[in-house]
Amino acid sequence: MANWSALAPLIQQVGRSMVVEALRAWADARRGQDDVGDPAACAHWCAQRLAAFTQPSQRRVFNLTGTVLHTNLGRALLAEEAIEAAVMAMRSPTTLEYDLEDGSRGERDDHIAPWLCRLTGAEAATAVNNNAGAVLLALNALAAGREVIVSRGELIEIGGAFRIPDIMARAGCRLVEVGTTNRTHLKDYAEAIGPETAAVMKVHPSNYAVQGFTKSVSAAELVPLAHEKGVPVIEDLGSGTLVDLDSWGLPHEPTAREAIAAGIDVVTFSGDKLLGGPQAGLLVGKRAYIERIARNPMKRALRLDKVRLAALEATLRLYGDPERLVQRLPTIRALARPAAEIHLQAERLLPAFAQALGQGWQVGLKPVRGQIGSGALPVDLLPSFALMVRGKGLHKLAAAFRQLPIPVIGRIEDDALLFDLRTLDDEAGFIAQLDRLAP
Ligand SMILES: *Cc1c(COP(=O)(O)O)cnc(C)c1O
Repeated sequence: MANWSALAPLIQQVGRSMVVEALRAWADARRGQDDVGDPAACAHWCAQRLAAFTQPSQRRVFNLTGTVLHTNLGRALLAEEAIEAAVMAMRSPTTLEYDLEDGSRGERDDHIAPWLCRLTGAEAATAVNNNAGAVLLALNALAAGREVIVSRGELIEIGGAFRIPDIMARAGCRLVEVGTTNRTHLKDYAEAIGPETAAVMKVHPSNYAVQGFTKSVSAAELVPLAHEKGVPVIEDLGSGTLVDLDSWGLPHEPTAREAIAAGIDVVTFSGDKLLGGPQAGLLVGKRAYIERIARNPMKRALRLDKVRLAALEATLRLYGDPERLVQRLPTIRALARPAAEIHLQAERLLPAFAQALGQGWQVGLKPVRGQIGSGALPVDLLPSFALMVRGKGLHKLAAAFRQLPIPVIGRIEDDALLFDLRTLDDEAGFIAQLDRLAP
């Protein structure tokens, strides 16, 4: 009688029913073969088949692409304070919609709205699933069945299916385009505003820049015109930040506070881009409009859960102390890292990196330019340093890095495989697994 204890560890790992399923598949696949009764061969085959179930599908990786807020790699990393708050909310019942004072029902927005108002100067605030949702909701709540005016220079596609004209249609609004791709004047808006106009919308051109013979109308010019005609102005800031990135030597990115100060009625922006929090779409602005938005049934469909609300609240709280933001918020920390510090790190890692790769590769350091990502500041690149490999078979080598226990994602540029170190925090973890690179 064969010894089937070889299957015990697998049963321990994935449970009996999945192992039974794999055994049936083995029996079908190997029927009539010599090894069908061989426990070791069978256990090995079943383990391989079940590998997909023993390993999570969404895995931790090293993002060394040079793009700090990489949409495909999950954008912002949360601050420890936000992680703790999220874990608490996952483990326990919370005051999500509960008022402890009088034991009555509370509002979920009350956890974040005071912070958003304080940090942007807005009268009121609310939050939904993401910025695409925020734009959809704002348009539907304020302009369904009516016209919304947008400059042709701002009819953007953010990637995936987020195109302003499509969102506009889904929100039930009629898009009225004004101006041309490169130039839109105040009089273009003035001529388009009519009795059917429900709103004027500005969109931050996140992932491209129109350069040369250009003209766009600033919020400061547009708001008085729209308000004179009794029409609100909505602005999709995209990344939208709560602090002046200039403080860390970064180029200026419009802040939500500036948009509010310019008189914009409803400003929308993302939670997981420059803000450095969980995925969310934030809406700040005039009380009457935010209340209409919050009452819209779509708000219920797009609302945030307690876990993300907890993480968002904790992230916003950090902005109350901007001096320590760079130490506490990973996004700002990564963006603010001086190139000289990254250079030192690269020099420190190079010997171990070169040794792990062995003969046959040219290994060195390279000054590179990374990007913020997620559409923020598209034309401004972050000076950084990368570990660089040249040689034959770079795509295979890049694949080997992706097969490591913690996959390492770099980029190939000008016949070199580059690992930009701006976003490498866990140096020891990175180096420790390099000896697993298959030769
Ligand atoms: C990124 C972006 C969006 C979409 O935001 P999500 O939070 O990813 O839904 C919308 N508009 C602009 C201008 C953006 O940059």
